[in-house]
Amino acid sequence: MQTVDLVGNVTSVIGQPLSIFSKTRYILAMPGPYYCLTCGRKEEECKCDRFCGICQNDYNVRLCADGNYYCKECRDACEYEAQS
Ligand SMILES: [Zn+2]
Ligand SMILES: [Zn+2]
Repeated sequence: MQTVDLVGNVTSVIGQPLSIFSKTRYILAMPGPYYCLTCGRKEEECKCDRFCGICQNDYNVRLCADGNYYCKECRDACEYEAQS
């Protein structure tokens, strides 16, 4: 009896914050506009040298929410979203 109650409580406690978390995450992942950390401009207007802030790659880099550029591989790995 005690084991059943414990499992039920744990499930409801875990279930609640998780659904809130995924909702918050969805809002945070909404695309741009993002601003370049170096020059403060939008990606279209930014004239900075663009390279990935993680691996220094300059192929397929996009501006992400934190104002840095990241290549596709690193964006995928870190789940960064480029603006649309
Ligand atoms: Zn810039
Ligand atoms: Zn990279």
